[in-house]
Amino acid sequence: MYLKKLEMKGFKSFADKVVLNFERGITTIVGPNGSGKSNISDAVRLVLGEQSIKSLRGSKLEDIIFAGTEKRKPLGFAEVSLVFDNCDHMLPLDYSEVAITRRIFRSGESEFYINKTSCRLKDIYELFLDIGIGKDGYSIISQGKIDEILSTKPEERRRIFEEAAGISKYKYKKEEALKKLDATNENIKRLSDIIYELE
Ligand code: ATP
Repeated sequence: MYLKKLEMKGFKSFADKVVLNFERGITTIVGPNGSGKSNISDAVRLVLGEQSIKSLRGSKLEDIIFAGTEKRKPLGFAEVSLVFDNCDHMLPLDYSEVAITRRIFRSGESEFYINKTSCRLKDIYELFLDIGIGKDGYSIISQGKIDEILSTKPEERRRIFEEAAGISKYKYKKEEALKKLDATNENIKRLSDIIYELE
């Protein structure tokens, strides 16, 4: 599995549709300061489910949607798609190509799609959880992150290593299971009340 293509429209400095095709192996992106290199990794992060605007280097939602120029009006939404080559079926889907899309509106609403079928953020999160990429997987190391990791407290550093090692997926599954257990206990309580009333 590898990231084959990135498509952006209305995202930060990319007002028009931009398609970046990646080959297997290492890709390096070069360009002058302010040309949008970091905006590309922000776009990847957005689709992988990043919810924190601060992590996308904005202070409010509008900051990630094309803000307009003297000659061009601002846009109402941003859309980013990641297309993965899935010939090895690492992503547990029956497709040899998987496109994950996120559309984000100025109102704050987001829409998510897997191969053009509408889905929830949770579906995308769970899809990537098993293969260790995703917003918490440390598959993207941003500027300043290494300094932050080195200067952080030992307990926090341990949490980072745990996440990178893939333990967070078990924590997530445990939390989900505990939530279901709580809901089931509530149902049992309600049933007991009904049985008591009937007796
Ligand atoms: P550096 O090498 O200095 O880190 P860079 O190539 O990584 O630069 P980015 O930080 O990715 O550049 O891009 C910054 C550019 O994106 C700025 O020119 C900024 O005006 C533009 N930009 C950011 N958000 C928006 C937006 N919402 N609408 C239009 N342009 C935007």
